[in-house]
Amino acid sequence: MNVIMLPTSVGGALRHVIRDGCPLWQLRCPGCGTWADIDDDQLHGRVTVDHTNQEGCWYHETHDFAALAGMR
Ligand SMILES: [Zn+2]
Repeated sequence: MNVIMLPTSVGGALRHVIRDGCPLWQLRCPGCGTWADIDDDQLHGRVTVDHTNQEGCWYHETHDFAALAGMR
């Protein structure tokens, strides 16, 4: 599994996985540490990653994770 660490100012990490034949990105949530699916808009910071529906998690931030991970 290829895990891309994000800068400590942002926290968390990214990984690319295949589920049922479909590639998707997951963010290791800086708030609660679980892996959360993110879509392309969230990956590129066009929309917020709102993880506050996860019990005990405060994470609700918007970042261009793709750029932070050096994907472009
Ligand atoms: Zn979380």
